[in-house]
Amino acid sequence: MSDVDFEVIVVGAGIAGSVAAYRLATLGHEVLLVERGAEPGAKNLSGGVLYSRVMEQVYPAFLEEAPLERRVTRNCLSFLTPTSHVNVDYRDDRLADPTNAVTVLRAKLDPWLVAQAEERGVTVMPGIRVDALLRDGARVVGIRAGEDELRARVVVAADGVNSFLCREAGIATAPPQQHLAVGVKSVIGLPRTTIEERFGLTGDEGAAYAVVGDATRGVGGGGFLYTNLDSLSVGVVLRLDDLTRSGLGSSQVHDAFLEHPMIARFLRDGELQEYGCHLIAEGGLHGMSDLVRPGLVVVGDAAGLTLNTGFTVRGMDLAAGSGIAAATAIDEGLRRGDVSAAGLAGYPARLGKSFVGRDMRTYAKAPAFFENPRLYHDYGSLLSDVLYGVYDLDTTPRRHLLPTASTALTHSAVTKRMIIKDGLAAVRAL
Ligand SMILES: Cc1cc2nc3c(=O)[nH]c(=O)nc-3n(C[C@H](O)[C@H](O)[C@H](O)COP(=O)(O)OP(=O)(O)OC[C@H]3O[C@@H](n4cnc5c(N)ncnc54)[C@H](O)[C@@H]3O)c2cc1C
Repeated sequence: MSDVDFEVIVVGAGIAGSVAAYRLATLGHEVLLVERGAEPGAKNLSGGVLYSRVMEQVYPAFLEEAPLERRVTRNCLSFLTPTSHVNVDYRDDRLADPTNAVTVLRAKLDPWLVAQAEERGVTVMPGIRVDALLRDGARVVGIRAGEDELRARVVVAADGVNSFLCREAGIATAPPQQHLAVGVKSVIGLPRTTIEERFGLTGDEGAAYAVVGDATRGVGGGGFLYTNLDSLSVGVVLRLDDLTRSGLGSSQVHDAFLEHPMIARFLRDGELQEYGCHLIAEGGLHGMSDLVRPGLVVVGDAAGLTLNTGFTVRGMDLAAGSGIAAATAIDEGLRRGDVSAAGLAGYPARLGKSFVGRDMRTYAKAPAFFENPRLYHDYGSLLSDVLYGVYDLDTTPRRHLLPTASTALTHSAVTKRMIIKDGLAAVRAL
C-alpha cells in the first residue's frame, strides 16, 4: 500500500459505484468512494422501478432495511391517443412474494447504499468532482480532483451515462444521439390513502405504468407513472435524435403527458415535490463501451448498461450486477498482483455470464425495433379504433370482430404487410 493511497478508487456513488465499493470492502480491500454530489443521490434521477432480487444478493436484509417505497404487483402497459387509452393491466400476487420489483426514490436510496459501504470501512468523499485520470504509460494509476491527486491500483468508473472518465481513458467518445434519450421526471406528492384509492392498492402494494403512443407527442420513447408511498413518479423518456427532429422541447412533451386526461386524473390535487432531467443510454448491447483498461474498469451506465424492452426500463439492477462482477474480478486481480487489462479480464467474462450480459444479448435488437415510428403514431390509434368499432353500438347492424378490425385497418396508416413485418420484428427483438 505504500505507493498508493487506496487499493481501489470508485468514482460515482450511484448504484453501480456503491455496490462495487461495498463488495470490495467486504472482500477486505481499502476503498475510496468519490461522489461529486454534496449528498449521494442528490444528482441522480431514475424513473424508479428497481428489480430488486440482485440487491438481496448484496444486502440480504435489503427489503426490510433499505428505504423503499412500494412493492410492484400491478404492471400496466398503456397505449394513448389524444382521446383514448387502451390498457393491458396485469396484476399478480406472485409478484409480491418473493418481491420482484420495488419503487424507489434515489434521494433516499443512494445515501442508504453509501452508509452500507461506509459501515464496511469504505472511505467516502462526497462533494468532490473527479477532473482527470492519472496514468503511468497506458495504465490508470489514480485520479485528480482539483489540486488533489490520489493513487490506487484500480480505478472504477461508475460515473454514469456519458461517462467523463471513459472519454478521458479513450474508451468512448460522446455516444451518438440515436443511442441517447433524455428523461424528464416529476415527483408529485399526494396523500397515501388517495394513491391507494386511485390505483386500487392496499398496504405497500405498488403500480407501474409504461405508456406509449400519444404520451410523447409522436417522439420515439414513452411515458411512465410509478406509485411511491405518498408520491407519484411520472415523466417521459425521449430519444434525442427524434426529439431534435420534432422541434419540441423535452419539458413541453413532459407537461403535455402530465396533462393528458388519463394521467391528469391520477395527479389531481397533487403537489410538485421534485423535477429533473437526466440522460439515458439507449444503445443496448451495441452501445456498450469496453469494460476494462489497465488499472480501470467501467460499470453501470458508464458502460452503457441499460435496457428498454417497452414493458420494462432497466438500468439500476444492471448497475448492481455489474458492480458485483467488477468487484469479484478486481479482488482476483489484486490478489494475483495483476491489474493489467488481462489481469482484470475476469470482469467482462463474469459480466457476460451473469444475468446482465445475458439480458443485454437477449434484447440486442430492441433499440433498432424501437426506432420504428409506427409504434408511437399508428398502433395506439389502430387499437383504439378497433375497440371503438366493438363498443360503439350506434344501432347499425353488428359485424364480427375481423371485419370490424379490417375497417379500422383501411382507415389507418398501417397496412397488413406492416403489421406482419413489425410483428416478426417484435418477436425477434423482445
Ligand atoms: C428518467 C429516467 C427513468 C429511469 N427509469 C428507470 C427505472 O424505472 N428502472 C431502472 O432500473 N432504471 C431506470 N433508469 C436508469 C437508471 O437510473 C440508471 O441506469 C442507473 O441510475 C445507473 O446507475 P449508475 O450507478 O451506473 O449511474 P448513476 O446512478 O447515474 O450514478 C453515477 C454517479 O456518479 C457521479 N459522478 C458523475 N461524474 C462524476 C465525477 N466526475 N466525479 C465524481 N462523481 C461523479 C454522479 O453524481 C452519480 O452519483 C432511468 C433513468 C432515467 C434518467
